[in-house]
Amino acid sequence: MLTETDWAPKRGEHQVFDSHEVWRPPAAEGASAPVVLTCEHASQRMPEGFEWLAADRHLRGTHWAFDLGARAITLRLAAHTGAPAVLSRFSRLIVDPNRGLDSDTLFRTRAEGHPVTMNGDLSDAEREARLERFYHPYHRAVSEVVRDTPSAPVIFAIHTFTPLYEGDPRAMEVAVLFDQADDLAQRLGQDMEDAGLKVAYNDPYSGKAGMMYAVERHALEYGREAVELEVRQDLSVDPEFRRKLVPILARLFPRT
Ligand SMILES: [Zn+2]
Repeated sequence: MLTETDWAPKRGEHQVFDSHEVWRPPAAEGASAPVVLTCEHASQRMPEGFEWLAADRHLRGTHWAFDLGARAITLRLAAHTGAPAVLSRFSRLIVDPNRGLDSDTLFRTRAEGHPVTMNGDLSDAEREARLERFYHPYHRAVSEVVRDTPSAPVIFAIHTFTPLYEGDPRAMEVAVLFDQADDLAQRLGQDMEDAGLKVAYNDPYSGKAGMMYAVERHALEYGREAVELEVRQDLSVDPEFRRKLVPILARLFPRT
């Protein structure tokens, strides 16, 4: 199984809950943080009461369960910028916090061409229980951190995507997803292009198609801007690449 132990926060307040973790670097103390970071697919953890059923085990360690490398990028960027970060602690197979309540992939029933056994025939009560235990607490945490960080005009989500799509290699190395924040997205993309990265905009997913639900929701809630970064997974799992990427991203969010 992939581990994310190459780097971990060494200082500050790190709160760990069943549904999520919150990292607040002490240097930020809310007031000066230039951005709030989120990571909706940080973990493939199956919390107490859940397990990897034999029929679903082929999804373990894959993007169906979580975004490989995303947590490590998020924590590293948090430390670099002095920004608070909220990260999920449950597999997106349980419930996907980057989907709206009306999304048909909120509880994913098919992956890799096969049924997701743990999500077959979910009762309304089970759906509600998962929302109450994981989805709602995650979003409450993001909402609270954004509310408590009025100095941050931007909410920045970190995700990763697969190098192959239906067998074809994806050329882009990183992607910027945005809906309203065109200027911010262009600046982020330009910084990465200037550093020699192959950047795509609203591709392979589009922020204009509801694919960055979580940060859009909380940006709207508090009148902030939202942008989502996607990193190709062969790069996101490479500590060397992460060390190179984070200072590039941090340029957009200078400490004040
Ligand atoms: Zn993701």
